[in-house]
Amino acid sequence: MGRMLLGVIADDMTGATDVALMLNRAGMRTVQVIGAPSANATLPEADAVVVALKSRTNPVSEAVAQSLAACEALLAAGARQILFKYCSTFDSTPHGNIGPVADALMRRLGAESVIICPAFPANGRSIYQGYLFVGSVPLHESSMKDHPLTPMRDSNLMRLMAAQTETPVGHIGYATVLAGAGAVKNRLVELAGQGVRYVVTDALTNDDLMVLGAAVDGAVLLTGGSGIAMGLPQNFRKAGLLPDRDIAAHLEAPEGRAGIISGSCSTATRGQIKAALEAGYPALKVDPLALATGEQTARILADWALAQPADRPFLVYSSDDPAEVAAIQGQLGRDKAGEIVEQAFAETARLLAKGGVTRLLVAGGETSGAVVQGLGIQTLEIGPEIDPGVPWTRVVGSPAMAVALKSGNFGAPDFFLKAWSLLR
Ligand code: ADP
Repeated sequence: MGRMLLGVIADDMTGATDVALMLNRAGMRTVQVIGAPSANATLPEADAVVVALKSRTNPVSEAVAQSLAACEALLAAGARQILFKYCSTFDSTPHGNIGPVADALMRRLGAESVIICPAFPANGRSIYQGYLFVGSVPLHESSMKDHPLTPMRDSNLMRLMAAQTETPVGHIGYATVLAGAGAVKNRLVELAGQGVRYVVTDALTNDDLMVLGAAVDGAVLLTGGSGIAMGLPQNFRKAGLLPDRDIAAHLEAPEGRAGIISGSCSTATRGQIKAALEAGYPALKVDPLALATGEQTARILADWALAQPADRPFLVYSSDDPAEVAAIQGQLGRDKAGEIVEQAFAETARLLAKGGVTRLLVAGGETSGAVVQGLGIQTLEIGPEIDPGVPWTRVVGSPAMAVALKSGNFGAPDFFLKAWSLLR
């Protein structure tokens, strides 16, 4: 039996990083596993393990199978409690996948009572009378109403959940939450006695999340956004299972060269590239058309990077403004353009790791996915946060490397400049 305490199953990669950061900040040593680990995989030692799935919009049966596989691996590694983490805007369709995945986990774990709490007050997500708010408007009036994959046209979490499951869904209102963890716990037991096993819980503030966290002490399963993770470490600490840990301000990174790969064309990234160019980082712009003809190759990109002076980070980027991107997509086709660049960067990252690069920043969600795959990375230990939502991480296993995966519009303009000072 491992000494892991909390297992988290996250339905997308960015969400997995969010919840990992939340746990890390609360003093739990946390690692993130990318994709459902195989049944006989050995999970690394940590207080919390977050499995990052990509199951939010998959067919229901796939999402269920992946989530159950993740659950088995977490249980085998000693998890005492499982958190099913979804988006704080409850991103789902009327078919799922939140309901079916929660049902499957509930059955597997024999859970009597499971809370549903996507509240994340720090990001403006609050729940009152079971209605989910985004800032000052109900969910169905927020921009989520027009989301291309999971348009949210209702804000009532009881109704949203009831559309996805046969199990009755109840509610615990704000007065009970204000009355404290004991009151919430009693009400959960009462509802479970009536066969109501899913319970939406109101929450407006971080204090409420701490109350709810305490109320689910000992529950085998709970569900929610990153926010609900905030109140879980206190239970383990109180039980003497979690030592007081200082959150490391720095990440111990292997000695070696530093560099940046960017395939993100988002506004924030383009600003960050501008700042890096102005700061005099040696930079090579990648042209997707040249990649397509073979005039540029991963080998050429990597050789260029490794030939730069090692005293400052290099930058290899394909990032461009929307007009240029559209022109290139017009010539290569939209999917093909992305694919060519992603593959080139995946291979470049592999060559860079071989060539002694041990500190790597990657910009772009899809680009990060490709690089992670190219490097064969399965597990990342979470380190300090560079900017909200983007931590440095250390690869568990090989290659020995610190990586930071920054998607789209994350990070301040000086992201590429300031990140390095958090490494030792
Ligand atoms: P973000 O997180 O900013 O959306 P992604 O990496 O997820 O970044 O997506 C960017 C996509 O654009 C990737 O598929 C990448 O390969 C592709 N891409 C990068 N540079 C260019 C370019 N100059 N022209 C066309 N497509 C590009």
